[in-house]
Amino acid sequence: MATKKIKPTHGLGTIVNHIGEGGHDRKAHLMPIYQTSTFGFDTVEDAGDVFAGRKKGYAYTRTSNPNMDHLANKIAYMEGIDLIKAQPDTPPSEIVLGKVTASGMGATSAAVLAKIGAGDKAIVQRGLYGNSFKWWYELAPRLGIEVVWVSDTRPKQLEDILSEHCDAKLIFLETPSNPNIEVIDLAHLVKSAHQHDIWVMVDNTFATPYHQRPLNFGCDVVLHSTSKYISGHGQVIGGAIVSTHLDYMAPGGSGVGLTYKMLGVAPSPQDTWLINVGLKTFELRMQRHAANALAVATWLQAQPNVEAVFYPGLPTNPYHALAKRQMINGFGGMLSFKISGGVENGMAFANAVTIPTLAVSLGNVDSLIQHPASMTHSATPKEEREKAGITDNIIRLSVGIENIEDLIEDLDNALKLVT
Ligand code: PLP
Repeated sequence: MATKKIKPTHGLGTIVNHIGEGGHDRKAHLMPIYQTSTFGFDTVEDAGDVFAGRKKGYAYTRTSNPNMDHLANKIAYMEGIDLIKAQPDTPPSEIVLGKVTASGMGATSAAVLAKIGAGDKAIVQRGLYGNSFKWWYELAPRLGIEVVWVSDTRPKQLEDILSEHCDAKLIFLETPSNPNIEVIDLAHLVKSAHQHDIWVMVDNTFATPYHQRPLNFGCDVVLHSTSKYISGHGQVIGGAIVSTHLDYMAPGGSGVGLTYKMLGVAPSPQDTWLINVGLKTFELRMQRHAANALAVATWLQAQPNVEAVFYPGLPTNPYHALAKRQMINGFGGMLSFKISGGVENGMAFANAVTIPTLAVSLGNVDSLIQHPASMTHSATPKEEREKAGITDNIIRLSVGIENIEDLIEDLDNALKLVT
């Protein structure tokens, strides 16, 4: 079997199906599952070389495993890292600029604590996913990390906050954000942050590398909950960390190399394998998610009893021009909206739909609907939600890849029932 020659300039459909594939044990067509906790060595000397980092090899799955490296490198490629250029002296199979984790929250924990600790300051977007908010609101202060909250994420406002808190070590954000679908200008932000040596850490779960590659704008670290679009079928919980900073990612270093092992955030080989299989249809799925979401957003906006629709693909959306500059291939599959008549009507609508499942999470092939104030963002205190603009009447829809006519008919029926 010829060695596959895949470049970062190849399309995503090619990358997800071929990078790291081929050449598997016994010519297995799919990457085999290395469902093992530990790995044997021929000699103590050999083991010593691996443990000391003089030689690449696997020792224990909490640290690394072929399935984990395989998926992590694939995600790093998808995010635009040319692994070979980044580490010219290392054979491609041994390069690690990504790590996969047992959950998106595991990725956040390992990535943040690899950069900052007690006595450090971080600037954090207030309108984050509920448990990411809680991480910074409750856990970070316990760890001695000072948090500066920012609700207004427009370029000038961020620039001012970064100048005022130029002693911060990092800024943490989501774009588009969960659930308000705010879009943050990454190019502008990176320019302002790097003037003060502040790292930019971006949760790219909503956009995915299909729509946005933060590293291309100079962001320092990209995080994912791979439980969402990357795995795509709601079959698994996982996360990923990708960065171009070699020292920060180094397996034997004091950054992610340390926190990954000590926090115990490694995923299981089986889950990692499932994510890799889900990823194979990534490009096709994302095309359909984006097309369906645009159709749903456009339809919702035309309904007299829908008060507001948040989707950057709509020309009337305040982030549309920025999203067109920053995002590629469309605007993603996530949208939020407000039904006229307040919270009760919004909740009744979410109860009335029959195709989307009433459930948290997102990025599944099937549509999911939820009420952030009662569900994903119930971990965020109401007054903090309000400061972030996450009002109680917002409904979030993760638009799936169903047939669009069926989906819109179902939403229409639900809307007629409640308004
Ligand atoms: N980031 C975002 C934007 C999310 O929506 C979520 C979960 O919903 C997470 C991170 C956390 O991911 P996980 O549930 O895989 O820990």
